[in-house]
Amino acid sequence: MSRSAVWHPFTQHAVEPPAMAIARTDGAYLETRDGRRILDAISSWWVVTHGHRHPRIMEAIRIATETLDQVIFAGLTHEPAEQLATALTALTPAGLDWVFYSDSGSTSVEVALKMALGYFRNIGAPRSRIVVMEHGYHGDTIGAMSVGARGVFNAAYEPLLFEVDTIPFPVAGRAQQTLDRLEACLRDRKAAAIVVEPLVLGAGGMLTYPASVLAEMKRVAEASETLFIADEVMTGWGRTGTLFACEQAGISPDILCTSKGLTGGSIPLAATLATDAIFRAHYSHDRSRTFFHSSSYTANPIACTAALANIEVWRTEPVMERIASLSRMQAERARRFEGDHRFSDIRLAGTIAAFELRVERAGYLAEIGPKLRAFFLDCDLLVRPLGNVVYLLPPYCVTAAELDRLYDAIDEAASLAKAVA
Ligand SMILES: *Cc1c(COP(=O)(O)O)cnc(C)c1O
Repeated sequence: MSRSAVWHPFTQHAVEPPAMAIARTDGAYLETRDGRRILDAISSWWVVTHGHRHPRIMEAIRIATETLDQVIFAGLTHEPAEQLATALTALTPAGLDWVFYSDSGSTSVEVALKMALGYFRNIGAPRSRIVVMEHGYHGDTIGAMSVGARGVFNAAYEPLLFEVDTIPFPVAGRAQQTLDRLEACLRDRKAAAIVVEPLVLGAGGMLTYPASVLAEMKRVAEASETLFIADEVMTGWGRTGTLFACEQAGISPDILCTSKGLTGGSIPLAATLATDAIFRAHYSHDRSRTFFHSSSYTANPIACTAALANIEVWRTEPVMERIASLSRMQAERARRFEGDHRFSDIRLAGTIAAFELRVERAGYLAEIGPKLRAFFLDCDLLVRPLGNVVYLLPPYCVTAAELDRLYDAIDEAASLAKAVA
């Protein structure tokens, strides 16, 4: 075979092995051309919810291709987009009445930021500061990087990133500091919005914080009329135990971003939901108040149909029961590492479990990361540690026996890490 022309994401081609070719996907598995079946313990970067190639979603996509392909979405509409918007406003927390489509988690966040700034400009009280949480991740476009954690990932682009106010991550026992800092931030300088990942900071290392803190942050933001943007791109669609993580705090954000699990992980689609107040601020006979955003593939009909099929799966299959059972299985198995000194912390949030290994050099570039990845792959397990944090974020079809395999491998990996350290 000739040299590949593909430049892979988050891949250092000089040191990493050549990409493994996947010929087929099925349920919780990725199958290579030569017949290896690899257990996808990270839902292919957090997108696949029910399992790969859910028959109902695949069937809906096939049928959709017989009537529609891309249709320009300015001035035109179609049934899949209309039905999906109605369904999303019903499924998300109360007050999110408007749905703006785009095609990735990053763009859904860019849209949210633009909506927030547009809102304040259009009501005649411009605000442009954004408050963010330490260790946050919101995507890899310039705006999304600006509101995310700074580090090795974006050092080269730093000159292009805009300034934000950062509140500390609410470490257990020190949540009050986070709230005090937020209050101080909003008192000193009016902010347009605060953007947070509710309950779990994914790329930041699967860091978890309680729903009560999320509720308090919302209350503090509301007091200064700062818009609350919930980035549910990873947490949405059941990952944390409820359909959306915000539900656990009993809050309705002003803006909610969803993508990854929106189509069950089948094809790209994103949506940014907003309150009527935000829509109304853009509603005017003055055309300069238009919400000036679009992607070529806005509301792709096939993607919208896939999302509708995903919602049908939620309606007709016991998805909530699967999630409850997976969450329970994770919690039971994680107990095996309680008090185990090879781990510096163990975190659980719904279907997600994260194991922080005690190593000398922590962080994303911790040398142990690639070694662990290779170890798991040798066991036919796709696990992609975030530095020294090994986590399991499997599709909801994963079985007890498959989880047992994963936990046995983590046990071995922890000893390997200890030996290397
Ligand atoms: C993955 C992720 C994004 C970015 O989504 P993409 O589809 O990769 O652009 C944004 N926010 C959160 C919380 C994410 O986990």
